[in-house]
Amino acid sequence: MNSDLPQYKNQLDFFASGKTLDINYRIQALKKIKQALNAHQSNFEQAIYQDFGKSPFSTEISEISLLHHELDYYISHLPKLSKAKKVKKNAANLLASHYIVAEPFGVTLILGAWNYPFLLTLNPMIAAIAAGNTAIIKPSEQAPHAMEAIKKMMSDALPEEYVYTAVGGVETASALLELRFDFIFFTGSTNIGQIIYEKAAKNLTPVVLELGGKSPTIVTPSADLSLAVKRIVFGKMLNAGQTCIAPDYIYVHSSIADAFNEALIQEIKRSSYTENSEQFCNIVNEKHYKRLETLINEEKVIYGNEKNPDKNFLSPTVLYPTTWDDAVMQQEIFGPIMPILVYEDLNECFQAILSRPKPLAAYFFGKNEDEIKSFSRKLSFGGGCINDTLMHISNIHLPFGGVGQSGIGKYHGKYGFDTFSHHKSILEQSNWFDPSFKYPPFGEGAKKILRLVLNF
Ligand code: NAD
Repeated sequence: MNSDLPQYKNQLDFFASGKTLDINYRIQALKKIKQALNAHQSNFEQAIYQDFGKSPFSTEISEISLLHHELDYYISHLPKLSKAKKVKKNAANLLASHYIVAEPFGVTLILGAWNYPFLLTLNPMIAAIAAGNTAIIKPSEQAPHAMEAIKKMMSDALPEEYVYTAVGGVETASALLELRFDFIFFTGSTNIGQIIYEKAAKNLTPVVLELGGKSPTIVTPSADLSLAVKRIVFGKMLNAGQTCIAPDYIYVHSSIADAFNEALIQEIKRSSYTENSEQFCNIVNEKHYKRLETLINEEKVIYGNEKNPDKNFLSPTVLYPTTWDDAVMQQEIFGPIMPILVYEDLNECFQAILSRPKPLAAYFFGKNEDEIKSFSRKLSFGGGCINDTLMHISNIHLPFGGVGQSGIGKYHGKYGFDTFSHHKSILEQSNWFDPSFKYPPFGEGAKKILRLVLNF
């Protein structure tokens, strides 16, 4: 691919035609995407099964249903979201109308990650379309069947001058980044996010970077242990731990560590996260499988570590006692390994988290109101849950995004619309009254009035 990509030029022309400024036009486009999503659901499910053995049911609940929520939200809320918003007047312009108009940026680039290949490429694309943009989307080459399935679905849904799916790997992404986009939305690792940010800076292109990190889970003595282990194991083992907001490591109070470990192991056994089971999947490729192997200190394995290298299968693996010096604590795990760390004092635990890069998610288990308040006010993280894991992503009224090294910007629902819009301020002045004191030369009387009006 070179920078004369005809689809890019066609998108520039298509956007300039002004068609996407029409709200009904956008709603029709979203309806076509919804129809295509229904028609292609089984292709999607097969594709992802071929890529890393994820079951159709898991794909349905963790990707397809969330895409439908976004589509339905925009289809019914777009007229309200896109309406000009009136704001309070200031004293100097009481007769004018003051309002904000949301305008689309133009031609956007969306680069997706492989772990939820449909959701992470199509969800931002849906927000881009709702806000009136066109999009070139590049799904991840690490889920190649899913990438082809997205291309097929989008070519059925909308013309290429509106949404074009670029199929390819790093060279394709790099060639695209040489073009001047009006907005770039990237989902992936923090390292690649830095490259994207640098490339966008050359053209002063605004970006959203949805990145990763090590998301902590804290379990305090007042936690309901049997509920906590269910919710932690579910959050960690969905997609075999290959979830950006999965609990990465678990910090447990020393007084409950033994009971917690026992309940955790029982819960893993009960849920049957076994090879070929409906609720589990394989590691995406050999490179990541081997990377995970290097993170497991066999002396600390208290459960799991069963493997099938032919399928890149790794069973849920619990490591205890873990310290910050262990290999598993030096990078985002992105796999079914659960390191358990022990703390004595909650403030020390907070300090250990605060002294490291800000995570994408954080989870707290416990009933003590002061501790809950401290967790949500003192720690900095993208978003999270108290007494649950992952569920904050399921509500489109909550903004989703990272902070610090886990990302820049947010989306979902209204926040996705706002992210893909420039909010243009307009002051529409009245013509029927225009006092002469506004204009020079300013006599003493005019100065007095101006000082009064301008409030100084
Ligand atoms: P990745 O960074 O390897 O790849 C993401 C995208 O970037 C792909 O489309 C890829 O083609 C492209 N890319 C890779 N190298 C590039 C380069 N040198 N120049 C330009 N583009 C390049 O990420 P991944 O392995 O697909 O996903 C895993 C990571 O993504 C984890 O860190 C995870 O936490 C993070 N993630 C974050 C979110 C979120 O919403 N915040 C969601 C899923 C995954």
